[in-house]
Amino acid sequence: MKVIVLGAGIVGTASAWYLRAAGHDVTVIERQPGPAQETSFANGCQISVSHAEPWATPAGLLKVMQALGREDAPLLFRLRADPLQWRWCLQFVRECAPGRVAANLRRIVALADYSRRSLQALRAETGIAYDHLTRGILHFYTDDKEFDRACRAAAAMRDLGCPRMTVDADDVVRIEPALAPVRRKLVGGDFTASDESGDVYRFTTQLAARGATAGIRHLYNTTVTRLVPDGNAIRSVEMIDADGRHRLMHADAVVVALGSFSVQLLAPLGIRLMIYPGKGYSATYPIVDPDAAPTVSLTDDGHKLVFSRLGSRLRVAGTCELNGYSRDLNSVRCAAITRRVRALFPGACDYDAATYWAGLRPLTPGNKAYVGRTRFANLYLNTGHGTLGWTMGCGSGRAVADIVSGRNPEIAHILQK
Ligand SMILES: Cc1cc2nc3c(=O)[nH]c(=O)nc-3n(C[C@H](O)[C@H](O)[C@H](O)COP(=O)(O)OP(=O)(O)OC[C@H]3O[C@@H](n4cnc5c(N)ncnc54)[C@H](O)[C@@H]3O)c2cc1C
Repeated sequence: MKVIVLGAGIVGTASAWYLRAAGHDVTVIERQPGPAQETSFANGCQISVSHAEPWATPAGLLKVMQALGREDAPLLFRLRADPLQWRWCLQFVRECAPGRVAANLRRIVALADYSRRSLQALRAETGIAYDHLTRGILHFYTDDKEFDRACRAAAAMRDLGCPRMTVDADDVVRIEPALAPVRRKLVGGDFTASDESGDVYRFTTQLAARGATAGIRHLYNTTVTRLVPDGNAIRSVEMIDADGRHRLMHADAVVVALGSFSVQLLAPLGIRLMIYPGKGYSATYPIVDPDAAPTVSLTDDGHKLVFSRLGSRLRVAGTCELNGYSRDLNSVRCAAITRRVRALFPGACDYDAATYWAGLRPLTPGNKAYVGRTRFANLYLNTGHGTLGWTMGCGSGRAVADIVSGRNPEIAHILQK
């Protein structure tokens, strides 16, 4: 079949890879000059199966309410005259009901676990190197109440089969000695040895390059403008190519992997996705003292920041602002990140040489991605991976390739929920 994949972030690139492996004729259309230039460019780089809790929980809701109006808050809702944002917020509140939280968590963990296995297999198959470390993910806590809550969350994750172990403050420092300077402030942590980290941009660009060698066609600098329906199928994809020309391309199947921008393309077809952009920031610092910088991937729960060591760089990412599609950097939020990192790891990095970045997480209210069919027979979705697109990208790419090929994905039972 001739399959067109829309979008070359981690999700589109992985989808294209597995579709090609299944024997299809694959074309990827991407508006940027190369793969992984938008949300998959400089994220937190965690493969975080065991810390996959959705933000929509009763405690998450309380945090959002407490943060309203605080410019440097990790979670910031700026309410706008935007019906999608209001509908999204209402649904977010509904997803905080305990029954919904448990169901969402089960689905996220299953997809994330499948995806990590898929990533590991791809790594072994292709030999792609992307500054990955398999040293686990350690959450640390500086607040007793947060830690108590985390102990309960860890128990829930263990019930789902994740080996997330609660540890005391001394263990935290044993696992990551770079935290020794702040030992007095720590109250405990939880650690999952099987979680990983690695540079999503390096991985995605290399996978795209190997895909091109295997026969995938990439049309970069090309913006998709419309899907042209014909009865209950999509006849063609309309686009503006690199020379500014309008083009139509026929496809037997189309996979939409446009992250936060999937919504606008599908609305004219009557497909209303509940995806809203959640702007997040990252800062990347050159490491000047390798022993003072962490090698275990970390999450500072109080400040909602994640840390990943990428060779000689330290990537720190976090914060979420629901405020439309702008990717402007807010200097207050950038400064808040660096202040925290400097306090935790004084002398580890050249903090004045930070590179700041912002990306739009394609957030669904319960952090459940759309993976699978639509009411159009040949139109498929792979979008809305929210806070965990790197963690879930390879698995959902593989699953969607199975679905397009008429096969049952290994995680079919989970995707139907
Ligand atoms: C600060 C931050 C930290 C994060 N940390 C982590 C983490 O540690 N672990 C984790 O698992 N996830 C993390 N995430 C989430 C993860 O980055 C995203 O879920 C993931 O990158 C989404 O991938 P995607 O391929 O769906 O979207 P994208 O990477 O945004 O790809 C979509 C592509 O579609 C293209 N496109 C859009 N519209 C059009 C159009 N009309 N025509 C052509 N092309 C178009 C875009 O250019 C883009 O390349 C983080 C996100 C942020 C912002």
